[in-house]
Amino acid sequence: MIIETQAIEVSGKDPISATRIQILCPNCSNDVDDAELAASKCNECGADLSQPVQHAEVHATSIPLFGITF
Ligand SMILES: [Zn+2]
Repeated sequence: MIIETQAIEVSGKDPISATRIQILCPNCSNDVDDAELAASKCNECGADLSQPVQHAEVHATSIPLFGITF
């Protein structure tokens, strides 16, 4: 599952960066969807998804893409 937010530019304020968050199974790196997340179980390998891997990318003009694992 990929959650994206768009950059918002507010006049006179710092723009809010666009972000892209991908949720993956910690065991098999399967892309986790809503149903799997709700069930906290990976459909591919049956792993517990109570703490899924989240890769967040922040898109900003002066900052290179980077990944964060929560
Ligand atoms: Zn899995």
